[in-house]
Amino acid sequence: MLDYECRRLGALQELNLLDTPPSESFDRITRMASQIFDLPIAAVSLTDVDRQWFKSRVGVQHQSIPRDRAPCAQVAERTEVLVVEDMAEDACYRDSHLGRSGVRFYAGAPLVTKEGFGLGALCVLGTEPRHVTEREIRALTDLAEMVMAQIELQHAYGRIEPVSGLPNRIQFYDDMTDLARDEQDANLRLAVLIDLAETAQIDNLTRVMGPGHLDACVKAAARLLRLELGQQRTIYNVSSTQFAFLAAKGSQEADALVELGDLLSHLQAATDLRFLLTPVAGIVPFTPTGIEPAELLQALNSAAQDARHSNNQASLFSLERDEKHRRHFKILQDVSEALRSDNQLALVFQPRIDLQSRKCVAVEVLLRWQHPELGNVSPSEFIPIIERSAHVRDLTLWVLNAALGQSRSWIDAGFTMPVSVNVSAANLEDHVFVEHVMAALMRHGIPPLHLELEVTESAIMKDAKAALRTLEALRDIGIKLSIDDFGTGYSSLSYLQKLPTEVVKIDQSFIRNLDGDERGQSLVQSMITLSHDLGYRVVAEGVETNPVREILTQMSCDEAQGYLFAKPLPALELETWMKAGQWRDKAAA
Ligand code: C2E
Ligand code: CA
Ligand code: CA
Repeated sequence: MLDYECRRLGALQELNLLDTPPSESFDRITRMASQIFDLPIAAVSLTDVDRQWFKSRVGVQHQSIPRDRAPCAQVAERTEVLVVEDMAEDACYRDSHLGRSGVRFYAGAPLVTKEGFGLGALCVLGTEPRHVTEREIRALTDLAEMVMAQIELQHAYGRIEPVSGLPNRIQFYDDMTDLARDEQDANLRLAVLIDLAETAQIDNLTRVMGPGHLDACVKAAARLLRLELGQQRTIYNVSSTQFAFLAAKGSQEADALVELGDLLSHLQAATDLRFLLTPVAGIVPFTPTGIEPAELLQALNSAAQDARHSNNQASLFSLERDEKHRRHFKILQDVSEALRSDNQLALVFQPRIDLQSRKCVAVEVLLRWQHPELGNVSPSEFIPIIERSAHVRDLTLWVLNAALGQSRSWIDAGFTMPVSVNVSAANLEDHVFVEHVMAALMRHGIPPLHLELEVTESAIMKDAKAALRTLEALRDIGIKLSIDDFGTGYSSLSYLQKLPTEVVKIDQSFIRNLDGDERGQSLVQSMITLSHDLGYRVVAEGVETNPVREILTQMSCDEAQGYLFAKPLPALELETWMKAGQWRDKAAA
């Protein structure tokens, strides 16, 4: 009984009704009750720990009365209608608060939640003894149900996604908490998350077709999910384009995967969605008592992301892959801190050598991150992560500023080689990037000729139009541009020809094992020839050995970069390397 009362009170508190201001939607019902009974007093009375609190009232001054021996408390406890025709004649209520204040007649109908908890009563009171008819009791009961409908409606508001009409994340959290409480045994359940589309896809869709189209997609998906999963299963719209639900009790992972495969194909086949969305699903086995709802949702997201990145339709949550995600997430989370701190990020510089003169003609600027917990994180790991976030703008500007600051001291010390900074796709799409570059050049007093920018083919192709505009503006300032990782993308040289770039850097994967690889050599030879025909200077990346350098020299490759000449070095070491006469072919000497 005590346990029931705790849960009853819990249900009442969850509704957030107590001590809220009066509202017309409740007052209207209370007035109707008073009119139907032709009685001066009526109230919506909620049974709290030790008081009856009136959400709505006519004919009473107080906001609450003590719960002790209040008839409404009995209505709430028993969830039954109570009629006291004459309190003065009633042993139980004669000396109660109401009895003593002159009330003679009482009728109350219970306010009962769907789960069966009695919250309180809708009651009418009179100062004269009175009889009631069947019809009056039916009317009072109907009105009590209207009060409950109103309560549930208000509660649902803020728990329903307006577009899909489905319960939202808050409701998901609540229901999972309830599930943990109800399912005391540690039964394994399967939770499923359906993710309609990649964030970038959604952004594009919204940009091109307007937000209405996305809403229509979400609506269509919600309708289809309801239809396929049936009335029995609750589907939650946990974020604008994500749906979560629990697989039927006792379902096995393998069955769930098959079932989901069908569901996803239907989702995609549903007209309108086909070409616009690529739905994937994540599945997480869990015991309701063993996981917090928020953690469950996080695991679901992680599994769905796995599915997306592995080109599977559905993916089962894996702890190991989750570790990767956590690391990924940490890197993303900590980058702003790294940008603010003065000892986490540092630059190293790798010389580019002219193959004829053997002189250093430029240095590539490469970023290093000493993470306080993860240690040294390689840029091949953190750059792609940050490139997918908004931090990439700040990161590139950080590198640019630090590189130009270094360039300033080198120019002052008599080293005049240009520095070459790597730029990301997002920078090219950023219409103020060019201004930022100009500002940085001015801040450090560096002529544009001393700066090169490297862009990968894939970065250019991401939004070719915007990229072209930015590149042209940069070229117009007098900055030299190079195409990085050449050969790894899909673009054709004839397209690249349209770009205002001067340098092509052939990707290391073509260069590293050139020695003894005839097909590779003819490929690189044709890359060099073609590039020259189109007016490019050619740099080979990843030159590690003398034989490769010799092959490249014979092929008339202009420049080379790689461990053979120098690893990426901190500024001071690079100066020492420069002063020591740069690179000398030790074998030849
Ligand atoms: P990348 O632009 O192609 O830079 C060349 C990478 O090859 C560097 O790796 C360099 O250390 C490595 N490398 C140079 N010579 C050799 C060699 O002879 N053999 C081998 N095996 N490797 C060589 P790193 O420094 O780890 O950078 C990896 C990638 O991270 C870079 O590739 C670049 O795409 C990106 N990155 C580094 N710093 C920045 C930055 O400041 N901004 C941006 N957007 N990307 C950066
Ligand atoms: Ca580069
Ligand atoms: Ca490269």
